[in-house]
Amino acid sequence: MRIECIAIGTELLTTRRLDTNSVWLGERLASLGLAFHRKTAVGDSHEDLAALFREALTRSDLILTTGGLGPTFDDFTKECFAEVLGAELREDAQSREDMLAFYAARKRVPPASNFKQALLPEGAEALRNPVGTAPGVWWENPKGHPGVRIVMMPGVPREMKRMWEDQVEPRLRALAGTPTHTLRMVVAGVPESALDERIRAVRERHSHLDWTILASLTQVELLARGSDPAALEAARADFQPVLGEDLVGVGEGNLEDAVLAGLKARGETLAVAESVTGGLLASRLTAIPGASEVFLGGATVYSAKAKVALLGLDAAQLAQDGTVSEATSRELAEKVRARLGAAWGLGITGNAGPSAEGGAPVGALFIALAGPEGTVSKALTIPGDRVDVQLRGMAWALDLLRRVSRIG
Ligand code: ATP
Repeated sequence: MRIECIAIGTELLTTRRLDTNSVWLGERLASLGLAFHRKTAVGDSHEDLAALFREALTRSDLILTTGGLGPTFDDFTKECFAEVLGAELREDAQSREDMLAFYAARKRVPPASNFKQALLPEGAEALRNPVGTAPGVWWENPKGHPGVRIVMMPGVPREMKRMWEDQVEPRLRALAGTPTHTLRMVVAGVPESALDERIRAVRERHSHLDWTILASLTQVELLARGSDPAALEAARADFQPVLGEDLVGVGEGNLEDAVLAGLKARGETLAVAESVTGGLLASRLTAIPGASEVFLGGATVYSAKAKVALLGLDAAQLAQDGTVSEATSRELAEKVRARLGAAWGLGITGNAGPSAEGGAPVGALFIALAGPEGTVSKALTIPGDRVDVQLRGMAWALDLLRRVSRIG
């Protein structure tokens, strides 16, 4: 199936808005074993849109559009496609009813311009929009183009995602035939290139599966897709010993989810003292529902003053050790653990740049973990800009906790 994505909206051609819809749709297609053969972003120009639709109809079997379904003058995706295909627009009774109900629930009357959203090209089906007012369109075999399917979805990412999940993906799944299953393995603490080298032989043994490596600043994901669940299970069993302790988990979830779940299962708690990461660690952990059972809290102790005032570090000792030092990271971990009575205390200090600070080069990082059996620490030098150093530092800290506490 040749699939094309058209993201519509003039703002997508500027630096104001990134076309994230097509990236998200690409990921969802991949989970079905499908992929785009082409993606385009186009502005709200009737002429450009009509030309693009004509081309797409000649080269693609499935055309996905997002945007331009709203009530304003610059929303004309449906109108334009109908015109290109010589189809009339007719009011869809259900769409009209849904829109009236949407406004009634908010004790408002729909503006007259909104009624155009209930129009549907003849021969097409409306996709209901439970979180907005613009319905989408599912159009199979339009006149003159047998075998072609057109799917129009709203531009608002929240509305588009909901429509895709509830109504579009189930239809595509049915079309794609064999269900595709995915094996996802999350790995931390190993660079992507080293990991690729290490798993080459085992990956080649399972080359009938479709493999992808996705590296981010905080972890690496190994994805395998196939139609036979037993083949995926065999791959998992073969990979497990090769990945060893570097394997964070299998299935959904990321490094932070694995750490929280592991501590929760043992009824253990965590406190953090963050300098260089400025609260990133706490923010990541608290983004997970149920974090409060494990994460007691912590302190963002960015300055020497805060380290002394909030956590009780000794000012003279701190000046002697330097804020970016192993000794200071250990002090942070131990002090925050003791103050909050946590099972584990993480301390992180470093220099995220842009210039060297008190003798510490850019990228220098010290992480310490205080626990029931004492304190361990790790010194690292991390390449990249400020955000890279902070994100990688956060991930190294969580990974140190994962390894030392033997979670999983
Ligand atoms: P609605 O009328 O429900 O707002 P629409 O189909 O008219 O939907 P647009 O007006 O094109 O959608 O876009 C609505 C919002 O969604 C805008 O804030 C826009 O920047 C954002 N948006 C549109 N397309 C994309 C995209 N491809 N990726 C990310 N955001 C997008």
